[in-house]
Amino acid sequence: MIDWGPDHLRMASKTSAPSNTSKATRSTKTSVATRKSRAVVRDVEAGSSVDCAHCGERVKFQAKVRNKQVICNVYVSGTWNRVEHFHLACYEEARSPHGEAEAGTDYRRQAANAAAAERARKLAAESAEAQSA
Ligand SMILES: [Zn+2]
Repeated sequence: MIDWGPDHLRMASKTSAPSNTSKATRSTKTSVATRKSRAVVRDVEAGSSVDCAHCGERVKFQAKVRNKQVICNVYVSGTWNRVEHFHLACYEEARSPHGEAEAGTDYRRQAANAAAAERARKLAAESAEAQSA
């Protein structure tokens, strides 16, 4: 199988473009501003085996209690660093260290929208790079 698809094109544009160009576009102020820590409230799922970042205890699934947890994507200096889990109560007790936890049922759509926006941004950056090369 011959693969002269997009991978080949991308590779070509990458090698012909100076390496410091992509670095410069990535560290603009706007992209840093959008890449910050965020927190969402979710149900604890069966088989969950994470520890609360605040009290250190297991965030446990209990069939009879619809336990809530807060999942945080933690960004350091605009770069994704780690995921932290909290009991919902612990997150409030810790005074929302990663921002207000987003509740609501449309978190899946939000995640999908964020992923789509991220993909669109990447594509735009790539085509801009290809045009300038
Ligand atoms: Zn806790």
